[in-house]
Amino acid sequence: MNAAIIAVGTEMLGPTRVDTNSLKVTAVLETYGVPLVRKSVVADILSELADEVEFAFGHSDIVITSGGLGPTEDDLTREALARAFGLEMQVDQSIIDKIEARFRARGTTMPEVNKRQANVFIGQTTLNNERGTAPGFHLEVRGKHVWVFPGVPHELEWMLERYFTPWLAEISGGVARHRRVLKVAGLTESGVEEKLKPYYAAHRDEPLTILASPGGIELHLVFDSLDTIAAREQEMLALLGHHVFGYDHDTLESVVGRMLAERGETVATAESCTGGLLAQRITDVAGSSAYYIGGAVCYDARAKVDLARVDPGLIKAHGEVSEEVAVALARGIRERFATTYGVGITGIAGPGGGSEAKPVGTVHIAVATATDHAHRKTFWGGTTRQIVRALSAQTALDLLRKRIR
Ligand code: ATP
Ligand code: MG
Repeated sequence: MNAAIIAVGTEMLGPTRVDTNSLKVTAVLETYGVPLVRKSVVADILSELADEVEFAFGHSDIVITSGGLGPTEDDLTREALARAFGLEMQVDQSIIDKIEARFRARGTTMPEVNKRQANVFIGQTTLNNERGTAPGFHLEVRGKHVWVFPGVPHELEWMLERYFTPWLAEISGGVARHRRVLKVAGLTESGVEEKLKPYYAAHRDEPLTILASPGGIELHLVFDSLDTIAAREQEMLALLGHHVFGYDHDTLESVVGRMLAERGETVATAESCTGGLLAQRITDVAGSSAYYIGGAVCYDARAKVDLARVDPGLIKAHGEVSEEVAVALARGIRERFATTYGVGITGIAGPGGGSEAKPVGTVHIAVATATDHAHRKTFWGGTTRQIVRALSAQTALDLLRKRIR
């Protein structure tokens, strides 16, 4: 048994949008051990779409489509399937009733065009869409399966979970593959590989995925057996130690948040070159008000002095981008908000403003407590302003994490 995915939509063939729905489908297929043999992105053109459906169907037992189910002229998935399979469609009044009720509940009336969404194939299983108007459907044709989902990502995700996953679990005989993601901070990709050398040597022919992003490095362990995953995870932990900050859906900010909440501790931030990026990440976590008191964007020297009580003499002596000022920012904001921890960031994000002594990408990060402080000087030369800022926030969170434990 194998599968193919078709993402329908001209917009994903241009430079502004990418198909992400297929990744959600792929994750489900992987869990149940169904190989994906092709995936494609097709324009909203009837003949192209019909050809693609026919081709995918000829090569796969399960074809999953997303998008093109809406009420407008360019939503052609239904028509393409009808053409590819030579099937008739009919109107399902109960779908019209449901869509009408949905519009009524929002105080408007259903536009006439929405009736197109009630065209169904004889024998199809209609998949009610609680998140939107376009229902999906499941159709069995010549012993093969077609699953048709709307394009709106959160609608598709809900429908996968509600309909597709249980179905696949049933026909595939249960979970075939498990995935465990280890999240690493404070190391570069090559740093991780260096530390994992003994692991690679011991498991040469096992696949291991390493993904690097500004949010950390992910190591994906995918195995049929949970025992194997647990064993490999232990080996990795022995090599990577405290650089592993979390698992699966953890983020550095969620992990730091959990640690602070558990200890009943608080934090405040004073940011220069990151302009509030750190505060944003901390407050991305629901419930962060339990431990995040607030912060200041201290961009100009004046703000460092006014908002974080940095001694102007210190700035004069060492410059705004210096260990002394980073520590003073952390201490000052901690005192100002009477928190357990204060975090200070000051650096040169670029592209301008660098010098020989302090090139673009030089960033000082400090975490202060009532009694001491930790400092890290980092240098990310040859990257972009965005990356320097993202890595600065990341490093500050990691420094905070290591100071808490
Ligand atoms: P509806 O009529 O309910 O909007 P639809 O099935 O017609 O559903 P589309 O019009 O194709 O869906 O897409 C709706 C939105 O979802 C668009 O913003 C589109 O960019 C996005 N989208 C569609 N397909 C994908 C995909 N494969 N990955 C990510 N986003 C997608
Ligand atoms: Mg549409």
